[in-house]
Amino acid sequence: MKNIVFGPVISRRFGLSLGVDLSPSFKQCNFDCLYCELEGKKAQAKMTEILDLQILIESVLQSLRKNPKIDVLTITANGEPTLYPYLFEFMEAIKPYVPKGVSTLILSNGSRFGEEKIQRALCLFDIVKFSLDGALEKNFLRVDRPYREILLENLLRGIEDFARIYKGKLVAEVLIVEGVNDAIENIKSIAKFLKRIAISRVDLGTVDRPPAYKAAAIDYQKLADIAKEFDGMYVNLPHRKKDMSAIGAAYSAEDVMEFIARRPVSVLEAPILFDKKTLNIIEELLKEKKLFLKKVVNLEFYTIKR
Ligand code: SF4
Repeated sequence: MKNIVFGPVISRRFGLSLGVDLSPSFKQCNFDCLYCELEGKKAQAKMTEILDLQILIESVLQSLRKNPKIDVLTITANGEPTLYPYLFEFMEAIKPYVPKGVSTLILSNGSRFGEEKIQRALCLFDIVKFSLDGALEKNFLRVDRPYREILLENLLRGIEDFARIYKGKLVAEVLIVEGVNDAIENIKSIAKFLKRIAISRVDLGTVDRPPAYKAAAIDYQKLADIAKEFDGMYVNLPHRKKDMSAIGAAYSAEDVMEFIARRPVSVLEAPILFDKKTLNIIEELLKEKKLFLKKVVNLEFYTIKR
């Protein structure tokens, strides 16, 4: 069996992260996403190999003792972590031992958020991050290729129900694949849905690792255009990759204020969107207290007072 606990690694979106893999031997997922960085594999409803709960708890506690200065303890899987049948029991057992200042985070595909037992487990996390690549049936099915009994309608209702009871920070990840889920009506439907629920941040991205199937990335400009649909929300775009060209546009103080009023910009993204002169203007606006820095789920954003 491979390691259950890995890291710590630096995650740009969440800080120094210690990872826990609830399916360390092989992929077990109820989706078979086109863009998955793991191998393509038929979606399954349940885990067939289940990690021993005591071994899992002991491994995590031991690693936490060795790494008390991390920012987040990230629960993930080679696949979908909510398929692990003892997620609640696991979280309940480790929670008292998570050092002060360390947030617990789960990365899920959101497919089981409507189930009561899963909701009880998710409520034990400080941050819950879920994926939403399609809010229209045809896009959802093409990108995420879920297990046949998973219906988009139920998935959305489940996320909405969970958002109503959850007191922690809810983050959505939207991943866009060229020609598959980049249609404007799909983007608008996703944005409309996310506006309805109490979302803390949206991580918007595209394919950036070798995918399981044929799936192409969209360019940065298109991603930035898509981000406009999420106005009013904290939208985090990917940090620049080698093959992504920067936009580096020039803005006046007034225009950059208007831009940020519509969509707060993460400190990491600003050097991609704006040229040097505009970045200096932003610094001035910060000094003049016309712009502010706000930390949203471990990431800093330029924002106006709301
Ligand atoms: S939900 Fe995650 S693990 Fe499962 S297929 Fe999609 S990308 Fe891969």
